Amino acid sequence: MLPGIRLGLPEWVASEVGDPDRRYEPGEQRMDLALRLAERNVDEGTGGPFGACVFESDSGKLWAPGVNLVVSSRCSVAHAEAVAIMIAQQRSGLHDLGTEGLPAMELITSAEPCVQCFGVLWWSGIRRLVTGATRGDVEGLLGFCEGPIPQDWIAVLSSRPPLPPVEVETGCLRQEACRILRRYHESGGTIYNPGSATPR
Ligand SMILES: [Zn+2]
Repeated sequence: MLPGIRLGLPEWVASEVGDPDRRYEPGEQRMDLALRLAERNVDEGTGGPFGACVFESDSGKLWAPGVNLVVSSRCSVAHAEAVAIMIAQQRSGLHDLGTEGLPAMELITSAEPCVQCFGVLWWSGIRRLVTGATRGDVEGLLGFCEGPIPQDWIAVLSSRPPLPPVEVETGCLRQEACRILRRYHESGGTIYNPGSATPR
């Protein structure tokens, strides 16, 4: 029997999120939650310095929080964005968050997408993306390799017929996001690029 796959958020996430019925204002207030999750993930030692949240765009209701769980879950796909999107899809009971009848969803993430998360976003049904640190920040401050995505990735997402567009806003609370990246570096956090793990 081959193993199944189960990913779960650390227990502390619920306390960091607080009131699950809270409505968040667009932009910085939503990013603030993603960044608090990223920083707590560093402090708790549960993963990399990345947090992400799926919100209902109009109401500001939190649909799913996510944090990086790569090392702790032994799962290279468990980036914060992927975790938040997977939880949002499980919560909706649908593989497509853009399904008619669902509220429009947005992904708020502490950093711009890596090669994987660009693809995860592409298929998710998310309608809007808001990012904090740039790909260059993540590579320059920490040495993570973010992988190749289209140079004009924002334009590619914003017009991709016949699929619905994904609107992109970058640089939201970028300095605060970079502070958390530096904190991870200073704490000696693992840089889990392929080929860098210690054999078991
Ligand atoms: Zn990623």
